[in-house]
Amino acid sequence: MTYSTPSLLVPHSELAPLQSFRLLCPGPVNVHPEVAAALTSHEFSHREEEMSTLLANLRHNLLRVAGVSAATWAAVIITGSGTAANESVLSSVGAHGRVLVLQNGEFGARLAQISAHHNETKVVEHAWAEAYDLARIEAEIDALRPDMVAMVHHETSTGMLNPVEAVGALCKRRGIKLFVDCVSSFAADALDLEGAGVTFASTSSGKALASYPGLSVVFGRHEAFAALAGRKAPCHYLDLFRFYQFAEGRAQTPNTPALPLLLALARATELVVEAGPSQRVARLRKLNDRVRAGAKALGLELLLADSAARSNVLTSVMLPAGTNFDAFRLGLRDAGFVVYGGKGPYEGRMFQVSTIGAVDEAVIDEFLVAVGNVLRRTAKARSVA
Ligand SMILES: *Cc1c(COP(=O)(O)O)cnc(C)c1O
Repeated sequence: MTYSTPSLLVPHSELAPLQSFRLLCPGPVNVHPEVAAALTSHEFSHREEEMSTLLANLRHNLLRVAGVSAATWAAVIITGSGTAANESVLSSVGAHGRVLVLQNGEFGARLAQISAHHNETKVVEHAWAEAYDLARIEAEIDALRPDMVAMVHHETSTGMLNPVEAVGALCKRRGIKLFVDCVSSFAADALDLEGAGVTFASTSSGKALASYPGLSVVFGRHEAFAALAGRKAPCHYLDLFRFYQFAEGRAQTPNTPALPLLLALARATELVVEAGPSQRVARLRKLNDRVRAGAKALGLELLLADSAARSNVLTSVMLPAGTNFDAFRLGLRDAGFVVYGGKGPYEGRMFQVSTIGAVDEAVIDEFLVAVGNVLRRTAKARSVA
């Protein structure tokens, strides 16, 4: 892929034209018009009463979407993408302890990378898209006796859901904390945080909550946040306890938040609550079923054979052998659609279709027609060459 960097000296009017797309990638997503309107709806100070109202509303609704009680759980908001929430937990909670990271794709690998900066870190490695080996995980837990296990709920790089309940049961029995990266799954795939024995979970604004990117969220039990009091976090800005203290004590954030993004996320979260979190999960399941049926009708294979492991966030579709992914991607861009390709072992071999933004059946049908057209064109170009 090549990108040209526009010179800073080029006046705005002469920049290459910027375009908008139908975003069928797992973030950024197309937002609801009311979310776009909320972004610039109000101007006030984050140290005044309005901020407390906004933050209380947002934190309350996030817990409603999570399906947990405010008496037991809290949500804190961090300005920064999903990785900020993940690093906040891994640095503050790990705090130079022992962390076992479960990996079966790109985002598990990232958790391991982040944790290695802060903790004694061991990784249980699986092949990408390989189901967790629970016997091996249990043996590794007993060998390392970690303070915390970290895992990804929905491994975005493959589309696979990992078994939080099963890992949670292993952790709960031994009194080990469990951190689950729910960055892409939150508000799309159901997860009972309380029942599964999760200690902390993370998400971000720009995925299935369907707002703009730039904010992230850490969910945790009050007692787990409170247990961080007095511990010296390895860094100041992402000190998870400070976020909790400011949120609970003052209904504010420790530092200047991206206020317009908070306004947009508050409306986006309200929209999920209004639609009903479980109705949203069902709707996303239906949209993905439509993508899957459409891909099959085009003669395309899906990456994941086990339908129970497939998320409601996205579908990973294998490209026909010999298809050049970049030509395919550019063909879809010409038709107005953005999709991402595979990474790691699947680079150049598959594409991913996500439906977590403001997408409906008509958009999916239009997209499937475009995929058929682009594949026919690229196959023809191959047979001529
Ligand atoms: C998107 C994502 C993240 C965070 O990535 P950012 O680039 O920081 O937004 C983390 N984990 C998973 C599973 C994700 O899908």
